[in-house]
Amino acid sequence: MKIVRSTKCSTKFTTKKKMIELNTILKEYGKTCNIFISYFWTHPEIDKTQLLKPIVDIPMANTWLTARLRKVAAREALDMVGSVKNVFEWNKEQVQSTITALEKKLKTVKPDSKNNRRKINNWHKKHKALTAKLSMMSPHKPKHKGDRMAISCTIAELQLSKKQGKFDAWLHMASIGNGITLDIPINYHKHFRELNNKSVRQNAYIVTKDYVQFSFERETGPKKEVKNIIGIDTGINALASTSDKLQFGTDIKALIEHSKRCKKGSKGKQRAINTIKQRINEVAKEILKNKDLIVVEKLSNLNNNSKLKGRLSKNIRSSIGSWNYGYWLMRLEMNCEENRVSFRTVSPYNTSITCPVCNLADSRNRNGEVFKCQACGYTDNADINAALNIVQRFLTGKYGSCYKPKNEAILVCPELSSL
Ligand SMILES: [Zn+2]
Repeated sequence: MKIVRSTKCSTKFTTKKKMIELNTILKEYGKTCNIFISYFWTHPEIDKTQLLKPIVDIPMANTWLTARLRKVAAREALDMVGSVKNVFEWNKEQVQSTITALEKKLKTVKPDSKNNRRKINNWHKKHKALTAKLSMMSPHKPKHKGDRMAISCTIAELQLSKKQGKFDAWLHMASIGNGITLDIPINYHKHFRELNNKSVRQNAYIVTKDYVQFSFERETGPKKEVKNIIGIDTGINALASTSDKLQFGTDIKALIEHSKRCKKGSKGKQRAINTIKQRINEVAKEILKNKDLIVVEKLSNLNNNSKLKGRLSKNIRSSIGSWNYGYWLMRLEMNCEENRVSFRTVSPYNTSITCPVCNLADSRNRNGEVFKCQACGYTDNADINAALNIVQRFLTGKYGSCYKPKNEAILVCPELSSL
């Protein structure tokens, strides 16, 4: 499997004169992008295969950028317009599906009790508000801020420093326009060297006034054969609880509470955030040891279920925070890719209140950190229980993935294996 990683190198070694020049280029690039955006906004039929001379020449009277860089700008403009329209369509679908669900409820529920009449009344109000919202919805044209550009070998090239000493390399940019060429000094850092040693640097760069971002590609080989599967539940008492009954990162709560006490924007706050990130990185690495497939809860399959989304986001708000949650999932997935471990997700629906033995889902099953089934009396740590449900959901396919493991796969949980 091919994986891509990126890293940023600071532009702080650049002279003042060059910085001014770089800023001028970025501004001009942003301006040109915006001319293209205006054009593509009213010409939705154009796609990337049509970015030929007539279109690339559109902003020619208003910019000094070369045809090469104009083409780069056109491509970025097309991406920006496309993504805004996609997000807008998605939002519209969300509202439309809520309206359809309301209409269905209004058709099926009869006004035969006071309670039902009140419900129906509320649905009517909601329906009216949403219909009005839908008719008012319109996409906002994006705007390029002129603060970054994504360029490749047609414009830029990383040249190794010939002289020993000052800098490791220069990012040489040419074919910009107005006869400008620009060399930005680059000093490698630890992460850059690591990536450079084990992967292939791509001829693609994101340039801003603060940094140049490099990307690297590496072939990891095929995924490991699936023998050891674990489910992972994310929480505040332990960052990760696994279905093989282990807990990792039990110090995360203290770290998050400390970070919350730090003043916004202070150096202490930044340090606290870095400590949390570092801890998440460590756990995301540690947890994959001797594993071939991990399963986590994720919302991706639930785009249309806003009620469920609300419930999960509420859970996360009261636990590790949505930012930390997103960062944690991202790190897990990245580490899986690097270690040839398969990464799967299931719906979080009821995982924390379902009994893994008798399947009863009841909110009374969970009491803080303790899980005790109201029906069969099965008792466990609440987070570990959730991890068991996550892996079970994955294996049975209920609400989750349709993946079926091969026979040789061993489920690393004694309770579930004996069922
Ligand atoms: Zn039970």
